[in-house]
Amino acid sequence: MASGSDLPHIVILGAGFGGLFATQAMARLEARITLIDRHNYHLFQPLLYQVATAGLPPSDISWPIRSILRQQRNVSVVMDEVLGVETSQQRVVLRGGPVDYDFLIIATGARHSYFGHNDWSHFAPGLKSIDDATLIRRRILHAFEQAEMLPRHDSQAQARERLLHFVVVGGGPTGVELAGTIAELARFTLARDFRRIDPRSARIVLIEAADRILPGFEVSSSGYAQAALQRLGVEVLTRTRVSGCSVDGVELETPDGQRLSTDAATVIWAAGVEASPVGRWLGIATTAGGRIAVNGDLSIPGHDTIFVIGDAALVKDQHGSPVPGIAPAAKQQGRYVARILKARLHHRPAIAPFNYRHQGNLATIGRGAAIIEYRGLRLRGRLAWWVWGAAHIYFLLGVRSPLLITIRWLWEYLSYSRGARLITGTTGPPENKPGS
Ligand SMILES: Cc1cc2nc3c(=O)[nH]c(=O)nc-3n(C[C@H](O)[C@H](O)[C@H](O)COP(=O)(O)OP(=O)(O)OC[C@H]3O[C@@H](n4cnc5c(N)ncnc54)[C@H](O)[C@@H]3O)c2cc1C
Repeated sequence: MASGSDLPHIVILGAGFGGLFATQAMARLEARITLIDRHNYHLFQPLLYQVATAGLPPSDISWPIRSILRQQRNVSVVMDEVLGVETSQQRVVLRGGPVDYDFLIIATGARHSYFGHNDWSHFAPGLKSIDDATLIRRRILHAFEQAEMLPRHDSQAQARERLLHFVVVGGGPTGVELAGTIAELARFTLARDFRRIDPRSARIVLIEAADRILPGFEVSSSGYAQAALQRLGVEVLTRTRVSGCSVDGVELETPDGQRLSTDAATVIWAAGVEASPVGRWLGIATTAGGRIAVNGDLSIPGHDTIFVIGDAALVKDQHGSPVPGIAPAAKQQGRYVARILKARLHHRPAIAPFNYRHQGNLATIGRGAAIIEYRGLRLRGRLAWWVWGAAHIYFLLGVRSPLLITIRWLWEYLSYSRGARLITGTTGPPENKPGS
């Protein structure tokens, strides 16, 4: 048996779905694996909106990477930030110093895209990390607190309306989940918590540039989601573009070319993503959205020891369509690269190109409705919501006791309590204008 330092060194960048699943799939491989992430936790991003809307505390959806991998002896975990890759030296540049590799798997995911307007991020935070989620939670809850503090006088009506006006930009699954859940927070959870304001009067607007929300779903599912949101009191504006974001709210361009200003204290960005800067690190061209177009075995052109997977990669399915940037795709790619490396290290014949298996589309609209599209199956409504809940609990198996989360969800479902209503960090967003 080879000694530790003689073993091939596999370096994995990112402990999200792709990186973690690749690591776990190589548990029995005779190799040295180093898993590097800028955070010390693995994040279950599909439930981030629950943290942002006070339904779950951060620790219910994120787990220390070291504890997940405690039993896996061939892995070392490094908490550091990737700054670049020197392919000619087979070396990753970290903030804390370089790390050499024999094989490199890059799974650093994606971040928000403001379509060239990065200054908007200050006024319209996106939802990608625990810090983003707690910032959004703070802004939402603080807006209600500020509105409550305004004198009841009529002269304050406009300031109050502005504080109770929430805009979500982007009608994909995350925007739909956020808008529906903020509406429920205002209409049910907070309804009786305040004395001067009626939280049920909050205005929640969802803005989508395409001609329907959930554009990745079937047309009838989009119609169902729009009707379900409207029942919760959410205004849905389609074919409407955001042309500006500021401390005052958003500027909109309507389908007939008009420009409107909307005063809103809380704006949340769920409109676009771009891959982490892997193209810059590797010095290679990227496709739209910053993704790296990979070979059929997920390696990059010209380097058969470097693989890019998950949201950072542009992978084609068997029909030539891009594989979506969703968790099951990243997991499948992580497991696939693990198989490739096992075959190579055991001198077995090369395996067939990556073959994506789509497991369906899922979205929820508040706590009473969801949409499931799975092969020929179409499920909508309350039953779909329960299936969605069960599916997420199943996905959590193996990372953290799902029982605790199940109990918490059931309790919140029955009581509308959203018990994580904590304003943490600075007492309020300084950029939120108080009432004038
Ligand atoms: C709000 C939200 C909701 C979502 N909902 C769903 C859903 O319901 N269903 C679904 O299937 N998918 C959903 N997704 C998409 C899904 O989470 C992603 O497709 C998936 O996480 C991609 O996996 P990945 O491994 O490519 O990247 P990620 O899971 O994003 O992991 C990337 C990792 O790399 C680390 N990293 C990044 N840059 C650096 C660096 N420079 N140095 C060190 N470490 C770095 C990050 O800390 C992170 O841990 C959602 C995403 C978001 C943001």
